[in-house]
Amino acid sequence: MKKILFVVIAVTLLGCKKDEKNNNKLNVVTTTTMITDLVKNIGGDNINLQGLMGSGVDPHLYKASEGDVTKLVNADIIFYNGLHLEGKLVEVFEKMERSGKTPIALTDVIDKSTLIGSDYFASNYDPHIWFNIDYFISFGSEVSRVLQEKDPENAQLYEENWQNYYKRLLSLKSDITLKIEELPKEKRILVTAHDAFNYFGRSYNFEVVGLQGLSTATEAGVQDVQKLSAFIIEKSIKAIFVESSVPKRTIEALQAAVKSKGHNVEIGGTLYSDALGNAGTDEGTYIGMFEYNVNTIVNALK
Ligand SMILES: [Zn+2]
Repeated sequence: MKKILFVVIAVTLLGCKKDEKNNNKLNVVTTTTMITDLVKNIGGDNINLQGLMGSGVDPHLYKASEGDVTKLVNADIIFYNGLHLEGKLVEVFEKMERSGKTPIALTDVIDKSTLIGSDYFASNYDPHIWFNIDYFISFGSEVSRVLQEKDPENAQLYEENWQNYYKRLLSLKSDITLKIEELPKEKRILVTAHDAFNYFGRSYNFEVVGLQGLSTATEAGVQDVQKLSAFIIEKSIKAIFVESSVPKRTIEALQAAVKSKGHNVEIGGTLYSDALGNAGTDEGTYIGMFEYNVNTIVNALK
């Protein structure tokens, strides 16, 4: 596999020169759907944007295809999350760096001392940063800065796009805060398939419990299911949640375990955790996804 990847990179490097591009726009490649949406809002039609991951794709497990490697090699800019969220792409990014291209980890702009720690990831931090809107705003400001630096001719346009989107993120922030106030503090317990919502929980005073831990790479064991079902009964939790990028069966097993103890817990809906919804829908955008998640959570737990 390593060898194939190297050959693909080498061949593509030889085969691609700047003047062979079909236009003069910057080629920008992104990893997760959240980052793709952010860059689309700032770059607009002025860039050629290619997102590697689609809706419903789990970034923890995502491996680069040969086609992806070609896109990465041809890119003028690569934006990714970092903190080992895209765990299986690290090797490809390291190879890129060796060939003189520096992929940009957007989490590099965040002050690490403010992050939630995690022993699970090689980065030692929980990488699900986008559920804190302030961090996502820092991502946006960095994307805008990089686009302006690489394409000074269109700098003003990127700046305007960013300022417009920034205002929308600020109003998202206040809308979300209002909606969450509908939920009393004691009902703010969020049980989901994996621990993607710790930053969300910290921002809005939720206790967050994930069945599979921080990454989806390890499956939940029988013991985890038993422990968590006892917790759900003890706290009289009304609903638990499926995630769009994680198989449903883990949460269904938890619901069945609660039922076997003579209690009932609803499945409150599907949350978008590590990927946005389908392109062209509201949930296919970061703002729409956040609103959808919060409405689903608040309405099910009320
Ligand atoms: Zn995750």
